[in-house]
Amino acid sequence: MLEELEARRRILEFTSPGAVIWVPLELALGQVLAQDIVGAMDSPVFDNSGMDGYAVRAAEAREGALLRVGTTVQPAGGDLGLVCESGEAIRIFTGAVLPQGADAVVMQEDVEREGDYIRVMEPVEPGENIRWRGSDFCAGQKLLRRGDIMTPTRIGLLASQGIPEVPVHGKPLVQVVTTGDELVEPGAPLIPGEIYNSNSPMLQTAVEKAGAIGAASHSCDDLEELKTVLGRALAVADIVVIAGGVSVGERDFVKEALNQLGVVTEFWRVRVKPGKPFVFGRHPDGTLVFGLPGNPVSAYVTFSLFVIPVIRKMLGYEVDVGCVGLGEVSGIAAEPMSNPGDRPHYLRGVCEGGRVRLSGTQQSHAIFGLSRANCLVRLAPGQEVVPGEMLSGYGI
Ligand code: AMP
Ligand code: MG
Repeated sequence: MLEELEARRRILEFTSPGAVIWVPLELALGQVLAQDIVGAMDSPVFDNSGMDGYAVRAAEAREGALLRVGTTVQPAGGDLGLVCESGEAIRIFTGAVLPQGADAVVMQEDVEREGDYIRVMEPVEPGENIRWRGSDFCAGQKLLRRGDIMTPTRIGLLASQGIPEVPVHGKPLVQVVTTGDELVEPGAPLIPGEIYNSNSPMLQTAVEKAGAIGAASHSCDDLEELKTVLGRALAVADIVVIAGGVSVGERDFVKEALNQLGVVTEFWRVRVKPGKPFVFGRHPDGTLVFGLPGNPVSAYVTFSLFVIPVIRKMLGYEVDVGCVGLGEVSGIAAEPMSNPGDRPHYLRGVCEGGRVRLSGTQQSHAIFGLSRANCLVRLAPGQEVVPGEMLSGYGI
C-alpha cells in the first residue's frame, strides 16, 4: 500500500502543465500566466490633467492672480496641441492632454470666473493635479510574471496597455464517470432501492471550482456499457475520474473495463482513510485515470487529495507533493478526536473563530456533514486529540 505522499508524487510525475494558449482577457480570470508580461508603453501614456479645471503655469497661479482664459478648451480625447502662454489659463478636463507650457491644474472649484478671466482663489504647486507620463510605470517594465494568477485588477492592468489576450495554460477537460445500477439522476422518480446520483454534479462542480472544465457521464454496472462510456471519456478528456465500481465485488467492472481499454494501472491502494478503493492509471495516449470510491464522502476526499493537485499542476500552478493546494487551515480542537486505525484519517471539520469541531457523523456516506464541513483535519494513525490542542488541515 502506497503512502499518501508517495502516491501524490507518482501521480504528479505523470502530470505536466497544459499547452500554452492565448485567451481573451475576459476569459483569463483565475488562470495562471505562462509568460512574463512587459509594459508596452508608459503609464500614463501622456501628461494629463487629474481634475476638471484650468491648466496654468504654477509660478503665475498665485492666490488672487488674474489669468486670461484661452478660447479653446482641451477635453479628454484628441490632443489639440494647445500651448499655455504666459498669463493664460486653458480650460481642461480630467484625463485631457496637458497643454504645452502648463505645469499644474487649478481645480475649477478653486477659481472665480470673471468674463474671459479666472481669479485664482487657491494657488497651486508645480505638478499639482497632473498625472505625469510614466509616473505609474514605464514601457519595458515587467508588469506580471509567469505563474501569476490572473485577477480582475491584473486583467484591468493589461487592458490599460491595450493587450487583448494573455498566454495561459489551457484548462484540462475532466470527465467524471459515475457507475452504478442503483443510481438515478436528480429530477427523475426513484423506485425503492434506488438512490440519486450525488457524485456526478458534486464532482463535476468540484472540477470547475478547481479551475478545469468538467463534464459528466454515467454507466450501469455492465462491462460493455462501461467500456463504451469510458472509451468515449478517454478519447476526449485529459483526466477521467470514475466514481464507484472500483472495488472487487462481482458488479465492480471498472478495473476490468480499464484494462481492456489499454489503461495501465500504476497503483490501486493508498494508505489513507477514506481512500479505499482507489485506482490511478494512465492510458497510452497520456490521459490520467482515477478510480475513486463510490461513497460520496470518500469520493470527495480522495478527489481533493489526489485529483485537485493534478488539475492545479496542469493549470500551471506550482504544486508540491506535501501540499495539495486547498489552502491550509488551523485551529484549536473544540472536542476530542481520535484515529484508532492504521491509516491517516481525514476527518471532516468546521473551523470557525480559530476552533475546529467535527462536522457530524464521519461515515463515508454522510453527505450532510460533508456539506457543512469547511476543512479536512488529518489525524495520524493512533493519534488522540484532546480539546485545546492545535490542529491543522486543508480547506475544502
Ligand atoms: P461502490 O464504490 O460502487 O461500491 O459504491 C459504494 C457506495 O457508494 C454504494 O452505497 C453506492 O450506492 C454509493 N454510490 C456510488 N456511486 C454513487 C453516486 N454517484 N452517488 C451517490 N452514491 C453513490
Ligand atoms: Mg457501485
